[in-house]
Amino acid sequence: MKHEQIDDVKLFMNGKFVESERNAYFENINPFTNEVINYVAKGNELDIENAVQAAEEAFTKGPWGKMKLKERMAYIEKIATLIDENQEEIAVLESLDSGLPIKQTRNMISRAAENFRFYSRMVQTKMHGDAYQVDCEFLNYTVYQPLGAVGLITPWNAPFMLTTWKVAPALASGNTVILKPAELSPLSANKLAEIIQQAKLPNGVFNVVHGYGEEAGASLVQNEKVKAISFTGETVTGKTIIKNAADSLKKTSMELGGKSPLIIFDDADFERALDAAVWGIFSFNGERCTANSRVFVHKNIKQRFINALKRRVDHIVLGDPMDMKTEIGPLINREHYKKVMEYIHLAKEEGCEVYQGNIPKHLTKGNFVPPTLLLHAKNEMQASQEEIFGPVMSVITFSEEEEVIQMANDTQYGLAGYVWTNDLKRGHRVAQAVDSGMIWINAQNVRDLRIPFGGMKASGIGREGGQHAILEFYTEPKAIHVSLGNHPIPQFGKPNHKGGK
Ligand code: NAD
Repeated sequence: MKHEQIDDVKLFMNGKFVESERNAYFENINPFTNEVINYVAKGNELDIENAVQAAEEAFTKGPWGKMKLKERMAYIEKIATLIDENQEEIAVLESLDSGLPIKQTRNMISRAAENFRFYSRMVQTKMHGDAYQVDCEFLNYTVYQPLGAVGLITPWNAPFMLTTWKVAPALASGNTVILKPAELSPLSANKLAEIIQQAKLPNGVFNVVHGYGEEAGASLVQNEKVKAISFTGETVTGKTIIKNAADSLKKTSMELGGKSPLIIFDDADFERALDAAVWGIFSFNGERCTANSRVFVHKNIKQRFINALKRRVDHIVLGDPMDMKTEIGPLINREHYKKVMEYIHLAKEEGCEVYQGNIPKHLTKGNFVPPTLLLHAKNEMQASQEEIFGPVMSVITFSEEEEVIQMANDTQYGLAGYVWTNDLKRGHRVAQAVDSGMIWINAQNVRDLRIPFGGMKASGIGREGGQHAILEFYTEPKAIHVSLGNHPIPQFGKPNHKGGK
């Protein structure tokens, strides 16, 4: 049964909502009921071509990239205001589509609005070049110019917020955009399109093509006119995208998977470390790229910590994503649910003691996985090495600082890390030794938007956030060299006036 109140999802192109060229649709399933919410227009290479054409024309012929900064930023700030005004509706759509608890999606939507305000400020204050006076002979200076039509490919785990991390800097710095949202969570992307339509951005500046990754996504990556691809998703998909982008030599930005360590020394603030460890893996249903899926506990506090973890897991509330009391909702779809359950079985086979919370009896239809502890885990186990992307924590014991650093780094990933200790020197030492793009000391995952976000190793290439997104990705620095006098220029082939040829 289709959800009555939610309209089918169309593509958004050149300022209008349209059907796909082949008039094809796919089902959008509710993770809480596994019933159809609505149908989504299924874009393919023809739709991508149309959207790219619209974006390219808007860039080359339209006013967007050339308008006065204050004017463009007024549009960006208008988008932020409209997101705030529609916060509740977007949060509901997001929870319905993704299974994320409404208490968490409300916060995500507020942050999404802030992303637009932030990039308005960033572009006005940081998107400037340098000037160098070279003796009295030259002036060298740089200007930052937008790239043109850029492709943004996003995942389903925090769809609206992650999309705005890309859309806000891309548009604010003067590019035009083709967004390919995750096929499993298409609703909030169209709400953003509606908002952008309402904010009256020039046609073609922002376009959305829904569809499958291998079809719509791959066509976007391969399109010659698309100047760059910013991607967030799985590491294997990232590798494919880099290969497919090579023929048209485009810039790519990669925000990929993780298996982040949280290290707790025996002198740490026990209760705060416990709060952070539990929140870090069980928030966003465990479908969180920076989740602390590997928790390393010092042997002196191991038993106390495990007992405390078990008590928390017993009391975590699973439920309807629309209920404000829900702490964990259903996973995104049946396939992902099966994958997570297979990892839990595998962990048992590998020798872990599996300790789980309870799923209330009335929750019979959704993709619920209870909060799960993999006790007596070893770092080398498959369940501790591969990204499970669900509410599953490996708990691993350590004795020495060097040993735990070695284990923390013994993974293909390097996205985030967390260290809990009251020894100041040790905190900094460990933070510097762990190979991850981001590390928090005595803190959960909170971050100022000015600081870079991203990973090392198989967790990514490049950084989002702050000035990095605009100066290192969405613009091209152009160097302009001006001569102020008559500097020497070699005179190849000039006839010699003293009687030469
Ligand atoms: P995914 O890689 O399956 O899909 C992401 C997007 O890529 C989707 O829009 C999909 O349609 C598209 N896609 C798939 N194949 C493609 C192809 N061949 N060409 C072009 N596009 C293609 O990832 P997911 O399952 O949606 O998201 C979960 C993953 O994202 C996890 O690994 C998680 O760690 C990662 N993630 C990383 C960050 C970060 O900032 N590092 C943030 C959130 C999620």
